[in-house]
Amino acid sequence: MPLWTAPLVAIALTQIAALATSVYLHRTLAHRALAIRPVVDAVFRAVLWLTTGQDRRQWVAVHRKHHAFTDCAGDPHSPRLLGLWRVQLLNVYYYMREARNPETLKTFAPDLKPDLLDRVFFSRGMLGLALGLVALCFVLGPAAGLLAGGLHALLYVGVLAPLINGLGHWRGSQNFENTAYNSRLMAWVTGGESLHNNHHAHARSPKFSMRRWEFDPAWQLIRVLVAARLAALLRPPVRLPAR
Ligand SMILES: [Zn+2]
Ligand SMILES: [Zn+2]
Repeated sequence: MPLWTAPLVAIALTQIAALATSVYLHRTLAHRALAIRPVVDAVFRAVLWLTTGQDRRQWVAVHRKHHAFTDCAGDPHSPRLLGLWRVQLLNVYYYMREARNPETLKTFAPDLKPDLLDRVFFSRGMLGLALGLVALCFVLGPAAGLLAGGLHALLYVGVLAPLINGLGHWRGSQNFENTAYNSRLMAWVTGGESLHNNHHAHARSPKFSMRRWEFDPAWQLIRVLVAARLAALLRPPVRLPAR
């Protein structure tokens, strides 16, 4: 494949990873806003393993701790405590520091025990990433495959995640009084996660868009899963009256 296909593939991979992170790690596991069938659970885990190498227990524990201590001492990645640019540039460092703390896992993710799939495959994050990269090189050719993988890593780790954790607690619009902010524009590319002020106000709502002109891409995927009877909402979506 020509090299120019690499950025397009990288953008597609980042969107897939962002949607899987939002629907599965965030809304299904961390906040229990919906329940999904075991087959969908396995698909999400495989997708996240190949595109991010993330451990679901670690992600859920760090995120629940963020909600428990939002912008106070104990928040793993607060731009109000650490400064915006530190979180924007070093988000992955702050995430890993908390993810490796066994106390955090014990306290905030006691409900997520490693199962057989974790023990055999998904706890080996580097193996997932390596397999994902090999698959990319196989499909696109070595040069375009490596470039696509590198760009995807940069976009997911260096751009999208810090935009949610950094900018999402720094500047934007608000529907509710809390320390998080909405960005309607960014929400289009972060799987709806940039409607972060809405999310902190109603953490268990499966839908993050609550007003007209707010769009939550991950909610569209959830609607499809619910319509196909592959998922069920455990909480109704929160809707705000028109202003
Ligand atoms: Zn937050
Ligand atoms: Zn959350």
